[in-house]
Amino acid sequence: MSKKLSIKIITLFPGFITDFVESFGIVKRAIKLKLLKLQAVNLRGFGLGQRQVVDDRPYGGGVGMVLRSDVLYKAISKQRTANRGKQRVVLLTPQGKQFQQSDAGRLAKYDELVFVAGRYEGFDERVRQFVDEELSIGDFVLMGGELPALVISEAVMRLRPGVLGKDESVDKESFSENLLEYPQYTKPEVLRVKAKGKRVKAMRVPKVLLTGHHKKINEWRHEEALKRTKKRRPDLLQK
Ligand code: SAM
Repeated sequence: MSKKLSIKIITLFPGFITDFVESFGIVKRAIKLKLLKLQAVNLRGFGLGQRQVVDDRPYGGGVGMVLRSDVLYKAISKQRTANRGKQRVVLLTPQGKQFQQSDAGRLAKYDELVFVAGRYEGFDERVRQFVDEELSIGDFVLMGGELPALVISEAVMRLRPGVLGKDESVDKESFSENLLEYPQYTKPEVLRVKAKGKRVKAMRVPKVLLTGHHKKINEWRHEEALKRTKKRRPDLLQK
């Protein structure tokens, strides 16, 4: 695994990607430290003719436009590196495998990720054969693959060594051991809020967290993580 993760997003809207890079300090820092490269590849540049056409009507009729397979083939082939073992080309589609934290861990091991973001009614079916895998971010339909590509990129990049600051840890987070994370608290120690009927309610931080007793705190956190997972996501415990 090389030190730098390169991410390319093939898109008709490169502004989505540049805005993302510009908006996030952690991403900018990772780029500056040469841990990350995040680029948009403008699909329009592979379009046909003077008008750089990228889509057409679906054969057989129907509403909307479909991204052309020849245009996407050119765009994807241009990104392919000789060493396919170190590169993964991912098509974003609601019909793909649902993205999970374990996929983030798996994708974080590659040197280069290429995401293909669809638009309109999607893409010509033949495009599926030019990619290594298909991912969805959930059972809902968005207008384009840019946000799914960025969602997956963010989940992946934060697992790469050095991308997060020293204070942030990824090993005890939700899903890392098929558990949700334990509850977190910070100041104030007592939060007073007006409850119904104007009675003041004191919401206190659990006492064990104030003891400084690390063994007890860890036991409490593990218990809470278990309880919380059992209540909210029992399916994770089955795993
Ligand atoms: N007609 C397509 C279908 O029913 O499967 C949906 C096309 S959608 C409007 C346009 C593009 O947005 C898709 O090609 C895909 O790249 C992206 N997209 C939408 N929802 C997504 C999801 N849940 N996960 C990943 N990509 C999604």
